[in-house]
Amino acid sequence: MDMPATTTPPQFLAETHEVINVARELQDYNLYASDAALRDAVAREGAAWADAELVAFGARVGTAEYLDLGTQANRFQPELETHDRFGNRVDLVKFHPAYHALMGAAIENGLHCSPWVEPRSGAHVARAAKTYMHSQVEAGHGCPITMTFAVVPALRSQPDLAAQWEPKITSLVYDQRNVPAEQKSGITVGMAMTEKQGGSDVRSNTTRAYPIGAGGPGQPYELVGHKYFVSAPMCDAFLVLAQAPGGLSCFLLPRWRPDGSKNALQVLRLKKKMGNASNASSETELRGALAWMVGEEGRGVRTIIEMVAMTRFDCMIGSSAGQRMAVSQAIHHCSLRSAFGARLIDQPLMRNVLADLALEQEGALALTMRLGRAMDNRANEHEDLLVRLAVPVGKYWICKRTPAHAYEAMECIGGRGVMEDCMMPRLFRESPVNAIWEGSGNVQCLDVLRAMQRKPATVDAFFAELRKARGADAALDAHVTALAADLRDPKDAEYRARDIVERMALTLQAALLVQHAPHAVSDAFCRSRLAPAGRHNFGALPRGVDCGAIIGRAWPAAG
Ligand SMILES: Cc1cc2nc3c(=O)[nH]c(=O)nc-3n(C[C@H](O)[C@H](O)[C@H](O)COP(=O)(O)OP(=O)(O)OC[C@H]3O[C@@H](n4cnc5c(N)ncnc54)[C@H](O)[C@@H]3O)c2cc1C
Repeated sequence: MDMPATTTPPQFLAETHEVINVARELQDYNLYASDAALRDAVAREGAAWADAELVAFGARVGTAEYLDLGTQANRFQPELETHDRFGNRVDLVKFHPAYHALMGAAIENGLHCSPWVEPRSGAHVARAAKTYMHSQVEAGHGCPITMTFAVVPALRSQPDLAAQWEPKITSLVYDQRNVPAEQKSGITVGMAMTEKQGGSDVRSNTTRAYPIGAGGPGQPYELVGHKYFVSAPMCDAFLVLAQAPGGLSCFLLPRWRPDGSKNALQVLRLKKKMGNASNASSETELRGALAWMVGEEGRGVRTIIEMVAMTRFDCMIGSSAGQRMAVSQAIHHCSLRSAFGARLIDQPLMRNVLADLALEQEGALALTMRLGRAMDNRANEHEDLLVRLAVPVGKYWICKRTPAHAYEAMECIGGRGVMEDCMMPRLFRESPVNAIWEGSGNVQCLDVLRAMQRKPATVDAFFAELRKARGADAALDAHVTALAADLRDPKDAEYRARDIVERMALTLQAALLVQHAPHAVSDAFCRSRLAPAGRHNFGALPRGVDCGAIIGRAWPAAG
């Protein structure tokens, strides 16, 4: 066939168009220095001493190379090898080097231990700030970091085991080798409670614990059963719940037995998750696995709940961090993209959406960091009561708000926000996890009711905290009064629990913001979140809100 003659030179044909009006990657910026709300919170909640360290950390984790670790750790997902090529059972999970790099940096920076090793004023706040930044880079590796952090208070209920294990748990060395803990310079610890027949209701656990000798606290047992969700199965030990003769008890189960043989915790398969891809979560069986009892026999839930309280706090940090990265991505994109003749960030409706996303995030951060200070001061009764009640309140509300927030930020970016080479799909897929694990939404709400019923002083502490803001905003004062009245009404408490807990979260966030945030932020928060009419989507802020001030404060100052 004859080809048509062409007079156009080929190099001209290749230039189809100029790429204009597009954003660029948000990278090479300081995640701390560019975050005014975070800097304010760190200073306010008692960790001003950590400022220089946080500036350096924020610069490190905001580089293009560092942010790319998060991408790589999720693109190349962990793989399970149950056996080696000779047929020996090995139960090995292999991770991408980027995952190990993130784990290494987290551990070197004490994200798994700093408040236990240096329990100074502001220690939890400083750790929360670093965790908040690291989680913006990558959330999945935070699972074993959080569990390792959270195990310490629970383990301390068994002082002999704590003395033996704590030094390696709190070591600043990430030792990824699959060898017995005695040979390692640092270890990580996981948690295995959930079984097929019950996750929220762990009392339904059927895994059995058989005493090897006399039995009792600190004594060895053999565990037989299964655990349906075991995240980070490469941990060196796990806190496990199992039924001992005297009832559900807590155990410390090592990966290796003291004689150097492999402990009988077998990994059957890795979960196929919609998100949280860098973190391996497994299904396991315990085939006579050696473990030592932690705490009293039959008081397993009470022992492990110390760990769970910490992991719930970390869920608040993680979801606040997800919101922060989503806001940063959205504002950054809209500042560079124009439509219909103006930058998106200058268009009134988009300003409403962006400001609303920023308000949500600042409320989440304020509550999280306030509870960080409460964690630092648990010897003070008021602070301890606040931790008991406000952690499940915050865990419920912040984690539950994050999926909608991530989706809305994705929409700000448009079609490119849906593409896998954008960070938004990862943030979106990650967003439901914190709401579901460590006690799902309803379980948090029921825990709030339990705390209020069993310890009425928690309610007094909560309202004492709200009173610090009294008189600053009329809508907030009215909201507090109505909430107090509703809390006095015990009828249908379970049925109403979500409504109650949501209002508790919003009043506490508002009370913190009116005391500490710029007026533009607190005013808009109260007017939008405490209004009587329900709001269903972001971007419905009322007239008169100073969107420019709110967006300007949240702007990630990227190069
Ligand atoms: C990615 C991932 C990793 C995980 N890793 C671990 C791990 O390492 N270790 C571990 O032990 N577990 C882990 N889990 C399990 C997780 O903690 C459980 O999924 C969670 O506790 C819920 O338990 P469940 O799935 O059995 O749901 P269920 O307990 O069946 O709950 C289902 C729903 O019912 C609600 N509900 C429960 N009770 C009530 C009630 N009385 N009234 C009203 N509503 C109620 C819950 O809120 C939830 O929404 C992981 C889960 C995920 C998703």
